Amino acid sequence: MAQARFVEDLVDREDDVDRWYVDVVRRAGLADDAPVRGCKVIPPYGFGLWEQMVGRLDARIKATGVENASFPLLIPRSLLEREARHIEGFAPEVAWVTRGGDRELDEPLAVRPTSEAIVCPTFARWVQSYRDLPILVNQWGNAVRWEERPRTFLRSLEFLWQEGHTCHATAAEADARARQMQEVYRRFLEEDLAVPVVAGVKTESEKFAGAARTHTVEAMMGGKNWALQAATSHDLGDHFGRVFGIAFLDRDGTRRVASSTSWGLSQRAVGAVVLVHGDDAGLKLPPLVAPVQVVVVPIWRTDAERAAVEAAVDRIATRLGPVARFKVDAREDRSPGYRFNEWELKGVPLRLEVGPRDIAADQAVLVRRDGRARQAVAMADIASAVEALLAAVQGDLLTAARRTLADRTAPVDTYADLAARAAGNAGWSLAHWCGGRDCEARVKAETKATIRCIPADRPEEAGACVVCGRPSGRRVVVARAY
Ligand SMILES: [Zn+2]
Repeated sequence: MAQARFVEDLVDREDDVDRWYVDVVRRAGLADDAPVRGCKVIPPYGFGLWEQMVGRLDARIKATGVENASFPLLIPRSLLEREARHIEGFAPEVAWVTRGGDRELDEPLAVRPTSEAIVCPTFARWVQSYRDLPILVNQWGNAVRWEERPRTFLRSLEFLWQEGHTCHATAAEADARARQMQEVYRRFLEEDLAVPVVAGVKTESEKFAGAARTHTVEAMMGGKNWALQAATSHDLGDHFGRVFGIAFLDRDGTRRVASSTSWGLSQRAVGAVVLVHGDDAGLKLPPLVAPVQVVVVPIWRTDAERAAVEAAVDRIATRLGPVARFKVDAREDRSPGYRFNEWELKGVPLRLEVGPRDIAADQAVLVRRDGRARQAVAMADIASAVEALLAAVQGDLLTAARRTLADRTAPVDTYADLAARAAGNAGWSLAHWCGGRDCEARVKAETKATIRCIPADRPEEAGACVVCGRPSGRRVVVARAY
């Protein structure tokens, strides 16, 4: 009974992607319920995926000269309120600590929704001279934003993330750093997670509270074809420098205000991996970040077969160790079919089956999760075959996701077409927009779609705003978003 229900319980992704997402995330072991709505327990399998992602992104960040540091979880209200637009932007989402033990606090403390308000005053103390610049730090930690409608990973009340903060002598340096980190995110998402993105800048009304410019990378989620803001990088100009008094004595003896940036990627990226690559059987994890890249499933019936198969598995393990993260699933209380289904649900990129007939032929069978292609491989060639297949799966996942993104993105030239595409979850629209706030607000109010970004790589093109008909110089990406 249990075996039959295992697959049947999972709703088809195209039928109800929201339910599919909740089911897959829980049953694959990525997240589990917590007593506070919007918070999640992350079991070892889900945390293993996050750790792989952290490892790869951390290396990319450090390669740009950034070092890790840690800032406090609690921020005094007076600091958070110092930048008016910043607090205005975050006020509805801030959780407050008002008591310590049995004593009312003199000043409420915010549980950080983001850390600019504590990092910038620290920078103000660290920076005296141009010799102290630039400061390039990142922290891996958690933050809390009081979401009214939480969705696991995509919008959770508490989330794990990294937030980078840098401080520079010139506005040009801050601008360059903000763009550089957007590119780091683009490459991480595409090369490590096989999630293609559109890179661009946010409109004035969608940008980070207090930023001069927000760079974004937007990814298309499967099922409803909605957008996910996968990471953002903010050029804060010298605004936070002025507000928090980050000033320095420059080479020429002049006192100047420093410019700064901040940039972050959160566990939303886990949700992106689920929604971009998953199918009716469950997750499909990109090999580079899969906590288990190969699952070895030994198959036997008799004790004599068992001894031979176990010996073969030992030899296979020796060969796999140097090339892949692998796990042997020899559970005797689960049939091979059940084990296949479970590891498919968990998205393990490759399955290696070995039974008595394989041993007789001095081979094993490798099965890809993405297309389920099977191939027999000679024992001696297992390591090289696994390496080649993991690379192939990684590349093919990106190719397939790129095709979906291209197929479901279309230019629209009328407001009616834009509204119809949004209502039908048909995909992203590329529409001319005059730059006016009123037109942007009308689209959002009437279609629930928003301008995701002004894409960086699209050519200038003369056209007419789909809302008001005024002239427009380029198309913007319009989509519903998580
Ligand atoms: Zn307009």
